[in-house]
Amino acid sequence: MTNDAKIPFLDLAAPHAELEAELVAAFREALKTAGFIGGPMVQGLETEFAAFCDARFCVGVGSGTDALRFALSAAGVRPGDSVVTVPNTFIATTEAISQVGAHPEFVDVEETTSTMDVEKLRTFLKTQCEQDPATGRLLSKRTGRTVTAIVPVHLYGHPADMDPIMELAERYHLIVVEDACQAHGAEYFSVRHNHWMKAGSIGQAAAFSFYPGKNLGACGEAGAITTNDEEIARKCRMIRDHGQAKKYYHDVEGYNGRLDAIQAAFLRIKLKHLQKWNDQRRGRAEFYGNTLSQIREGVLFPVAAPWAKAVYHLYVIRVEDRDGFMAKLAAENIATGIHYPIPLHLQKAYDYLGHKEGDFPVTERLAREIVSLPMYPTLTEAQQRRVCDKVRQILSEEAASKSCRPALVTT
Ligand SMILES: *Cc1c(COP(=O)(O)O)cnc(C)c1O
Repeated sequence: MTNDAKIPFLDLAAPHAELEAELVAAFREALKTAGFIGGPMVQGLETEFAAFCDARFCVGVGSGTDALRFALSAAGVRPGDSVVTVPNTFIATTEAISQVGAHPEFVDVEETTSTMDVEKLRTFLKTQCEQDPATGRLLSKRTGRTVTAIVPVHLYGHPADMDPIMELAERYHLIVVEDACQAHGAEYFSVRHNHWMKAGSIGQAAAFSFYPGKNLGACGEAGAITTNDEEIARKCRMIRDHGQAKKYYHDVEGYNGRLDAIQAAFLRIKLKHLQKWNDQRRGRAEFYGNTLSQIREGVLFPVAAPWAKAVYHLYVIRVEDRDGFMAKLAAENIATGIHYPIPLHLQKAYDYLGHKEGDFPVTERLAREIVSLPMYPTLTEAQQRRVCDKVRQILSEEAASKSCRPALVTT
């Protein structure tokens, strides 16, 4: 490889090359049986993914967005309710809330983990909500709606601080649905339970996406709900299949939100490698961290909270002149991304929520400064070294051009 060969942002093809024979055999088997929807492949994946997440139940569905939508509904969120989440996430989180007929309410994230700021959640519940004297339920003062759920997002593969979130949820009788779409295998040390807990096993339910670029990705669209609650699992199974538990007996209206058997078969093959792939991602993150920490100024890199074992779905750093920085890396044939450039409360789709710039300052600052560096299990050390060398070079040139004063010389 020449020194300036392109370093892609993602490499989805490499794992498939390695697993090709197995994947093709699974596809052939599916063609033979023509069992494309439901059946033993889907059940097999559900059993194995539930075990991987330390959850009692897993329900395979069509996408991560379906998983969020069905989990919220099955856990008891009703049309007209308010659901608290963060503005620093992918829009699927709030689409799912709106699509069950509820109303998203935001609390800001905290800087070190980019996940829900539990103090801001506490303040929101305490000062911006009040108890309805008639029903005892919690009402949002801003909207007058009943607050029924919290959706923390385990962003970039780093878990949100779940202990205080669960404590607040219990105090205010709220449902917690984890958005674990970026966090397959991430772990959280719960002081309340005094052990490590897997993402997807902590709230009443959790949503996972198997979109191709996720830590566990299908060869198409797929997702899953995990839960320890049998009733929630039962309801999700009905909702994904037009509200029926028995063919043509529709207890409720549902969706066409089932998981393809072919995708389930592919996912079972890949799931066997997920732990290894996550370890490789952690190794890559450690290398980036060690190397970038030698750059004294101009860059902030992610540091996992002491209670977190992150799985680095993305490796997101912060720099001041983000757009210039990305352009310079692109000129060096190094691809980067922004997750996400526009906070949800400032998206056109959410004009109706009536937010303005300044409402969630941490999210807004992150949106200006974040850059996602290449991160995947097959990223090589040579590639990482080149990324880090370029980062160092760009930042030192920037620092030099910013200041006309001679550099300080230490004696
Ligand atoms: C990917 C993702 C989703 C949606 O998953 P899909 O499978 O694409 O529907 C939801 N939330 C977050 C945080 C995601 O990253």
